[in-house]
Amino acid sequence: MVRAVYPGTFDPCTFGHLDIIKRAASQFDEVIIGVLRNSAKTPLFSTEERVNILREVTKDIPNIVVDSFHGLSVDFVREKNAHVIIRGLRAITDFEYELQMAQTNRVLAPDIDTMFLTTSLEYAYLSSTTVKEVAAFGEDVSKFVPPYAAEMMRRRFRQKES
Ligand code: ADP
Repeated sequence: MVRAVYPGTFDPCTFGHLDIIKRAASQFDEVIIGVLRNSAKTPLFSTEERVNILREVTKDIPNIVVDSFHGLSVDFVREKNAHVIIRGLRAITDFEYELQMAQTNRVLAPDIDTMFLTTSLEYAYLSSTTVKEVAAFGEDVSKFVPPYAAEMMRRRFRQKES
């Protein structure tokens, strides 16, 4: 079985992430989405909430597994008995950081390779950060994130207001 891991913060999962997930799922026997626990960022959603959103929006894709992890991606990948890390590339701005990370990971774990999927054009501008900024002003974000994630964002920002 050829297994790949798609690690990230997913705070929350956008249509851009989902596009990468679906395309990776068509290339590998199994894709494990790894939700990072100890991110340097302060997420809008807890790890459990981010995992739940991903499980809900990928429930119709049979070869997707969603799990969380802390620490280094390469350790999680090894633990899952996988040899491939999937990352999405949006623009040139992503490239430098992604290249550094992929090369660092390659030194740490020569048996693991990073594979980049370039984003589909219609999602190239999308980032979780921008979507959160829009949602914070009470705007509908259903053009950017799956319906379940949009509803969770609406609820979260309502809670914050009250
Ligand atoms: P991280 O904090 O690890 O960058 P993200 O959740 O922001 O986590 O992103 C996870 C991965 O998904 C990264 O490889 C990122 O480049 C990619 N990604 C994010 N947004 C998009 C998008 N709109 N289209 C394609 N890939 C994306």
